[in-house]
Amino acid sequence: MDYPGNLIVVAAPSGAGKSSLVKALLELDSHVQPSVSHTTRAPRGQEKHGREYFFVSEPEFDQMVLGDAFVEWAHVHGRRYGTSKKMIEDRIAHGSDVILEIDWQGALQIKRIFTNAILVFILPPSWDELRSRLERRGEDSPEVIETRLANAAAELQQAKEFDFVIINELFERALFDLKAIVHSQRLKYVSQRRLRADTFKALGI
Ligand code: 5GP
Repeated sequence: MDYPGNLIVVAAPSGAGKSSLVKALLELDSHVQPSVSHTTRAPRGQEKHGREYFFVSEPEFDQMVLGDAFVEWAHVHGRRYGTSKKMIEDRIAHGSDVILEIDWQGALQIKRIFTNAILVFILPPSWDELRSRLERRGEDSPEVIETRLANAAAELQQAKEFDFVIINELFERALFDLKAIVHSQRLKYVSQRRLRADTFKALGI
């Protein structure tokens, strides 16, 4: 189905800097809205229900799966995460661009349903840098870091399925790349035709 808003899906192995990039984009561009996922994991730190995630119980998540409420859902690091169909449809139908920060499995599912969705994969510049970012974050034990790195090796193989790749070496450069991808979607003929209808009309096209 064709919606006026764009759907941009960003995936990356943990530690590649996906969340910081998406957060910075959202602060800079008020036409981009986040999609707030549902998860069965518990809130961390300052996280608030409805802001970072909708935190739901396992039975509540089951209900949503049965009720076909998710456009995609997946097990990630032993917990379930899902994207509500209604949330993204409402937003893109109103012309907002929606950015989803989800894992690669969810990204590929989204593309099957929303064929116009743009998939962006964020790569770290090297294994050494990925490891040191996970260590610097100080969130995970050495064992968890090893698991995340082992998972990352498999996740990186999925990059070839994505439309765009950003190598997050310098944050500002990577943010520029992400902004460019979002901006390029708005320059497509169908978007311009819709956003600049007056200009097209005045030009007689
Ligand atoms: P965290 O628990 O650290 O916030 O997220 C863990 C992983 O789950 C991240 O890779 C994140 O992108 C992914 N994730 C968050 N929301 C969703 C979702 O709705 N669907 C899928 N498939 N993955 C998600």
